[in-house]
Amino acid sequence: MQLRSTLKRYALRTRNFLEGYDTIPGVFFHQQFPGRVVLSFDDGPTEMTPRVAKLLSQHGIQGVFFMLGQRVAREPSIVREVDAAGHIIAIHSFSHPSFAELNARQMGAEIDQTRQAIDRALRDRYPKGYPHRYFRPPFGSTWTREGSPRARRRLVDTLTRRWMMPVFWQVDSGDGQDTKVDHVIERFYRELETSKGGVVLFHDTHKNLLPTLEKLIEELPQKGFQFSRLSDLIGGF
Ligand SMILES: [Zn+2]
Repeated sequence: MQLRSTLKRYALRTRNFLEGYDTIPGVFFHQQFPGRVVLSFDDGPTEMTPRVAKLLSQHGIQGVFFMLGQRVAREPSIVREVDAAGHIIAIHSFSHPSFAELNARQMGAEIDQTRQAIDRALRDRYPKGYPHRYFRPPFGSTWTREGSPRARRRLVDTLTRRWMMPVFWQVDSGDGQDTKVDHVIERFYRELETSKGGVVLFHDTHKNLLPTLEKLIEELPQKGFQFSRLSDLIGGF
């Protein structure tokens, strides 16, 4: 298992290097951030989201919430709550399609509709619009196996035009498939052993997230890891 993920990481690193992606701002699978951990959450906002935001704030941790535009439009008050608690609102698309199959116009529309929904939700605090920076494509695709170099280029162009950057992850908690606390923790540490740190992928869509986070928030500092802000990993962006 570990050998496979090491090989996968090496293959991605080589491919990204060959394609010249090392110069593009963002967080890519092959990068390394030893000793630091950034907690990120996909597919919200849901009723879990405010509870997660509150738990992180209580421990002085800044989370990054990659939200779905269609859920933002239904739950604008949760977006306001997450922002007011000091976390980062980021974009995960409007309707969760695989970006590997979208053309440039469709990619742009998914992102812009979500930007607008977030801007509407946060208009009082950001009258000129929220400073959108970070985007994570559903399933990580374009950078996973399904993605072609052309699809990746299309996504990078779409983001660059909007002054945004892609943010993938180093540690997949696996809670997109299996939310059982013990399984998530086990997988988390297995992935952490390979990557040594970085951005962690969770989903703020299930109730096991709170006990999982409580355990990790307690254990990680004891193991020498430090909770970081996403902007600290990428030079202040
Ligand atoms: Zn997702």
